[in-house]
Amino acid sequence: MSPKRAPVVAQWFAGEGESFRLLGTRCARCAAVHFPREDDFCRNPGCGGRELVEVALSRRGRVWSYTDGRYRPPEPYVSDPELPWEPYTLIAVELEAERMVVLGQGAPGVTVADLEVGMEVEVVSGVLHEDADTVWTTWHWRPVGVTA
Ligand SMILES: [Zn+2]
Repeated sequence: MSPKRAPVVAQWFAGEGESFRLLGTRCARCAAVHFPREDDFCRNPGCGGRELVEVALSRRGRVWSYTDGRYRPPEPYVSDPELPWEPYTLIAVELEAERMVVLGQGAPGVTVADLEVGMEVEVVSGVLHEDADTVWTTWHWRPVGVTA
């Protein structure tokens, strides 16, 4: 039996392929967008709105900053200490429409050598880790025009 796929965090993203999107919420009163999603009250201190509607965020944005992780973080980061550490790339992206910055890992194979501030990237479905019966999915950022 192949392992089931499950989001590492519920309701932060949805879809596959071209329809994969991050999900946030928008305040019905002041239109402020929240990611991570906020479902109880608007975080705008001058608003006080309590009606928040789920919205799909921009698929694309531009690299705001980036770095890479070259050593194994401590727990609760999930990694197998028996395996050699594989560096990962961390990218902060300013979303095209919302102009908010969302952090995420680079897609497999994307290194800091592939990135520049201002470069256009898109959100894609990715895998955070796998255990015996579950593939835990997340979002990744990938330079536009690169297929993997
Ligand atoms: Zn509001």
